[in-house]
Order: sequence, then structure tokens, then C-alpha cells
Amino acid sequence: MTMEHLHKLTHSNAKASNMILELQQKGIHHEALLQLMLSIPRHDFVEPAFSHLAYSATPLPIGKNQTISQPLTVAQMTQWLLQYARLGRVLEVGTGSGYQTCILSHFFNKVHTIERQQSLFEKSQKRLSSMGIQNVEFLHGDGHLGWPTSLSVDAIIVTAMANKVPLALTDCLKEKGILIMPLDQPEPMIGCWQKCNDQWKRLDDTPAQFVPMLEGLVRD
Ligand code: SAH
Repeated sequence: MTMEHLHKLTHSNAKASNMILELQQKGIHHEALLQLMLSIPRHDFVEPAFSHLAYSATPLPIGKNQTISQPLTVAQMTQWLLQYARLGRVLEVGTGSGYQTCILSHFFNKVHTIERQQSLFEKSQKRLSSMGIQNVEFLHGDGHLGWPTSLSVDAIIVTAMANKVPLALTDCLKEKGILIMPLDQPEPMIGCWQKCNDQWKRLDDTPAQFVPMLEGLVRD
């Protein structure tokens, strides 16, 4: 390892430890989640020009006008899943950099993830496979339409903001399954719901901003 590599490593380790302390102060208490977020090289998931800010409490560019959510948002959404969902099969919409996907892959048996932007889809697929992650299925698709083959999932997590829950997407969610999704109405917030007799029972929510959930595919 070169001095430069070594410097980068220790540097980001200190920053990662600070990030974990901040998360604990903001109410993230799940030990295994904190340990995992300490160990994942978040600087590898953002645009290189912003890697020095990778552990800061801010969303950052990941290319194609999209952003990786700030650490607290990722941690909060994941902590709800760990608290409420059966950790079997999860469907994610908005793969983006693959950072949230990477976290999900450590806790769930199987992850299905959808991204509409082709270059992000390809990049995150390569990134996770180079990390040795094998329990994720990637799809270049529009999350509004759900997964193309029949699927039954314990949880759905959407990491882009819509104005309503897309029905075709949530069809595959099991009874008592958990949906975590940002909605911009009545005001921007992330909600955590449970599917109960075809109704949504709200379990939790928190204010948040997200990039919008858009229609259709982008090939680039
Ligand atoms: N969770 C990601 C950040 C997501 S940013 C991470 O950890 O990096 C939101 C992502 O959702 C973007 O990559 C955007 O292209 C994608 N997206 C927006 N609308 C979508 C849709 N309808 N279907 C699939 N992906 C969508």
C-alpha cells in the first residue's frame, strides 16, 4: 500500500467514526447497523470530486444529476426496516450509487433493486459485485411498474420522492409487509407503513427532502 493510500484510509476512518457518533446522537442505536456503516467505504460511492465530504451530514452528487442521501436518512430508513420488517426479501427503487443497496444486502437474504438511469444502474452493479456482494438482483427499469416477474417481498424501500404510492409497485408486498417511502404531500416526509388488509397503517415518519421519482427509462 502506498503512503497516499494509507493516508486516505486513516483519514476516512476518522471521518467515518465521527459520522457514527453523529448518527448515535441523532437517535440511531442499532449496533449492527452502526458497525456496518462504519465499515462501508462511503467515499467510493460518491463522485470523486466530493469524496472528501463523503462522511458529512449532507447529500452528495453521484452523477446524472442524482444524489446519495445523507447518512442519517439512510440510517433512519434502514433502522425502521430492521425494527419492523421480516428480513427475507426486499425491493428497492432508486439504486443510485448502490450505497443503500449495499447496506440492505447485509441484512436481507435477497435484494431486488430498480434504477431508471442506465449508467447508474451499470456502475452500481459493477461496484457491488467488485465488493463480493452476491445476493442482489439489479434491474434497469421504472419503479412505478414494479418488478417484471412475479415476486413477493417482505419490504419495499423507495429512495426517490413521489406524490402517491405507486400501486403496481406495492402489489408484490406481502400482507403485514413494510413500505418505506418519501412522499411530498401533505408535506415532504419519509413514511414507514405496514400493509394491513389492503390499507396502510402508519408506523413512523420523519421530515426529509429527496430527488423526485420520475417516469420512464433513461438510456445513456
Ligand atoms: N439510494 C441511492 C440514492 C438514490 S437517489 C443511493 O444510496 O445512492 C434516487 C435514485 O432514484 C436516482 O438514482 C434516480 O435515477 C432513481 N429513480 C428516480 N425515479 C425512479 C424510478 N421511477 N424508477 C427507478 N429509479 C428511479
